[in-house]
Amino acid sequence: MRLTFYGGAGTIGGNKVHVELGGRGAFLDFGEPFDIDAMYCSEYVRPRAGRGLRDFLRLGMLPPLDCYRPDLCPADLLASELRAVRVDALFLSHAHSDHYGHVGFLRHDIPIVASPMTYAILRASSEIGRGGPPTELFDHTVRELKEDEPRVLVTPRTKGRQVHGREWVLTGRAIEDAPEWRKGGSCMVHEGGGELNDIEYRAYPVDHSVYGATAFALREGEGEWLVYSGDLRMHGANGGSTVMFADEARRLAPKALIIEGTRLGRPSSGVEMTEEMVRGNCLAAVEESEGLVIADFSANNFERLDTFIDIAHRTGRRMVVTHRDVAFLESVGRVDGNVRKDLLWVYRSLGRDDVEEVGRLGREGWQVADPDDIANAPDEHMLCLSFWDMPKLLDLDRRGGTYIYSNSMAYDLRRTDDLQKLMNWTRLLGFECRGLAVVDGTLGFEEGFHASGHLAPEDLWRVISTISPEVVVPVHCACPELFAELCPVPTVLPEKGRSIDLGSD
Ligand SMILES: [Zn+2]
Repeated sequence: MRLTFYGGAGTIGGNKVHVELGGRGAFLDFGEPFDIDAMYCSEYVRPRAGRGLRDFLRLGMLPPLDCYRPDLCPADLLASELRAVRVDALFLSHAHSDHYGHVGFLRHDIPIVASPMTYAILRASSEIGRGGPPTELFDHTVRELKEDEPRVLVTPRTKGRQVHGREWVLTGRAIEDAPEWRKGGSCMVHEGGGELNDIEYRAYPVDHSVYGATAFALREGEGEWLVYSGDLRMHGANGGSTVMFADEARRLAPKALIIEGTRLGRPSSGVEMTEEMVRGNCLAAVEESEGLVIADFSANNFERLDTFIDIAHRTGRRMVVTHRDVAFLESVGRVDGNVRKDLLWVYRSLGRDDVEEVGRLGREGWQVADPDDIANAPDEHMLCLSFWDMPKLLDLDRRGGTYIYSNSMAYDLRRTDDLQKLMNWTRLLGFECRGLAVVDGTLGFEEGFHASGHLAPEDLWRVISTISPEVVVPVHCACPELFAELCPVPTVLPEKGRSIDLGSD
C-alpha cells in the first residue's frame, strides 16, 4: 500500500491523495488547492482556459502526472513532463470544491464513485455555474489545438464536435431517477456494487456541512483495508452517521486511516458550537427582530437551509430563496425525497435574466414573492441572500431589519474585503447585523451563529481510537506536528509529492 499526497498535506489546501493498492491505483478526491489559489490568484487573475493544463501545472495546482484529458494538453506541454501513474477510479467524498474542484481535468474514462447526494448537488452546481474544464464533471466538448497557434486550445464550433461523458458510480439509489441527469446521453450514471476495476470499496455516510458526505474504505484482492474519512464532524443533525462509520470501519481492522485534522491548532472559545445551538441562537435573533430578516449562509449548506426553513415556519414568516437555490433544491429533493416546495417562495429579482427564470418557476407552480410584497409586509418575510445578492435588495423600497450572518469564520477571513463591503451594504440598508460586527473599527464575528463542518479535536481522537488503524495519516491539517504529538495511534506525516510506503498488500 503506497500513499502519495498532492495537496492538503500539512496545509489547508485541496485534497488530492493517490493510493496504490496491489497493482491498482485510485485518487481520493481531486480538489482545488485553496492555499495555492490564495497565493497567486484573485477574481481576475486566473490560470487561462486556452492554455489547458499548462498554467495549472506551472503554478503547482496540478501534480505533473499522466492522468489528464489529452485534449487539455497544448503543443508545448510534453508528455515527458508528466510522470506515469495508474488511476482505476476516483473516490469523491463530498461536494466542496477543495475536494472535487479539479476532477474535470482527469481523463474522462476514469470512473467517479460518489454518493447520490454528492452527484445531485454537483449536477445542479454545473447547470448554474460558470463551467470550464476544472469542473467539467459530467461531459465536455473535446478541445482542439488552435490551427495557427497550437500552444492555444479552442472549443470547436462545428456541428461535428466530439463530446466525452464520464462514468459515475453511485453508492446508493436516488429516489427519483431523472433522465436529464444523463445530459446529452454521454454521461453514464449507475449504482455500484462495492467493486470497481478490481478495487473493493465500502462507502459510509458521515456528518459534514454539506449533505451527501461519504467516507470510504478500499482494498485490492485480499489486501489490507485503507480508510479515508473525507471531511466530517459529529455535532450536526447527522452526527450519528459519523459514529456508525467509526464503528463499522473498526471491524475492517484497517492498515491505515487518512483523516482530516482541519481544526487542530485553531483558536477555540472553549464552547463547542453545535447545529442545534446555532438553531436556538438564530431562532432567538429572528424572534427579537422587527421588520425584514435576511439569512446569509453558504449556498450548499442544506442543513442550515433546513434549519432556517424551520425557523421561518415557527416565527410565521415566509421563507424566500433565489431561483439559483431552487435549482439545487430540486436536485437534492430527487435524493432525499424532500421537495420543500410548499415551504418556500422564490424572490422575483428584477435582473433581466432573473425575471425570465422566476417566471418559468412560477409557471411550474413555485410560489413567487415580489419585492413589493416583501416591502409591504417585511415582518412576514425572511430572505436567504448573501453578499453577491446585495443589489437585489435595492428593489425593496424600504430600510431596516436584521441581517443574520451564519457562515464560516475560517473561510471568510480570506475575503475580508468582501465582508467589509457587506457591512457597508447592511449600513446603507439600515440592517442590524448579527453574527458579524465591527468592534473598535475592526471586523469581527459574533459567536453562536455558525457551527464548524469539521471534527472538534476531542471528537477527532475519539473517531481515531474507535477505528484503531495501524497508522494514521492526517490530511488537510495546518498543524501536522501537533497532530502527531496528540494522536492516540502512531502517525505518519505526509509531505506533498512524496510517497509513503506502508508495505505489501
Ligand atoms: Zn468539506
